Amino acid sequence: MTDTTALLIGETTFPFHSIDEKGPELAAAIGDAADVTTTTDRDALCDLSEYDVLIDYLTDSELTEDQLEGVLSFVRDGGGYLPLHCGADLISTAAADPDELLDQREEPVPELRAVIGGHFLTHPEESEFGVDILEDHPVTDGVEDFQIFDEPYQLDVDDGDDSDLTILARMDHPDLEDYPIAWTRTEGDGRVCYISLGHTDEALQNESFRTLLRNAIAWTA
Ligand SMILES: [Zn+2]
Repeated sequence: MTDTTALLIGETTFPFHSIDEKGPELAAAIGDAADVTTTTDRDALCDLSEYDVLIDYLTDSELTEDQLEGVLSFVRDGGGYLPLHCGADLISTAAADPDELLDQREEPVPELRAVIGGHFLTHPEESEFGVDILEDHPVTDGVEDFQIFDEPYQLDVDDGDDSDLTILARMDHPDLEDYPIAWTRTEGDGRVCYISLGHTDEALQNESFRTLLRNAIAWTA
C-alpha cells in the first residue's frame, strides 16, 4: 500500500466522460498506487492541501477564479498535477442550450494551458494505434511500445526548440501525425504529467496504460 492521496475530479455533465462510469474504471486502473477520492465538486479545487496529486478528468473547462487559483497554487507549492485525457480540453464548456452538449470558449484557459504545456484540439474516431515510448523516465518505467484502442487525441503541444516539456511517448497511428501521448514538466515546486489516453474501457484496462498512470502518480506525488 501507499500513503499517496489523490483527488480525482470529473463530472457527469457529458455522457461520454461521465465520472460515474469512468471513475470506478480509473480507480481500478490506479489500484493501490494511491488512496483515491473521487469528486464532482469543483470547490474541492480551492483547497487541495490534503492531497498529494490532483487527477484532472474534467471536460468542461469552466472554473471560477478561486478554483483555478486553487489548482495553480497547489501545483506551484509542490502538488502533483496529472491531467488525464479530457483534462487537457481547455476549450469546451457545458452548453447553455440544452440541445447542444458543448460550447467552445475562444481560447484555451491560458493559465492552465501554460501549466500543462499544451491543450486538446480534436479527435477522430476511436481506433487502434501504437504508442511509442521515447524516454527512459520514472513514468515510463516498465512500459514498452504498445498498442491501444482509444480516442487518438490531437493536441497543440509546446514541444518546440525552447520547450520545457519532456515528451515521453508519441502516437504511431496509421492516419495521423505522431502527436505526443504523454509528457512531463515542472511548475514551481510541482510536477506535472499529462497522458492523453483514457477514454475507452479497453484503454482503461490496458496494462501499459495502467502502468503509465500508476508511475505518473508516483512521480508527481
Ligand atoms: Zn474522450
